[in-house]
Amino acid sequence: MDSENELRIEAGGEKTFGPCNCCGKMTKRIWGFVYEHEAALAAYFVEWTPGHPCSSANFDLIIGTWGNDADNATRRQSVWSSAELKLAQPSWSSMRLLGVLRVAH
Ligand SMILES: [Zn+2]
Repeated sequence: MDSENELRIEAGGEKTFGPCNCCGKMTKRIWGFVYEHEAALAAYFVEWTPGHPCSSANFDLIIGTWGNDADNATRRQSVWSSAELKLAQPSWSSMRLLGVLRVAH
């Protein structure tokens, strides 16, 4: 395996809030970072309401540099929902450029 090109996902945390206006269920949000070696390449947020009638998850992926001297202007944000994923089948080819994703334990 090419370890030079390996990415690591680190869970940042999770939060439950709500209740949802339409169904009264609690909404869950999790987030974390994608690291290449010691540098954070991207941040992700996923939000969903278990049991919500029109159940879908919102994904928020922010790619860019992170850290104290990071420039906000270099960041790109991608927001989509699982409903959109099913409909649009967005291209994941750009994700492959990021390398192999590995979930940290
Ligand atoms: Zn709801």
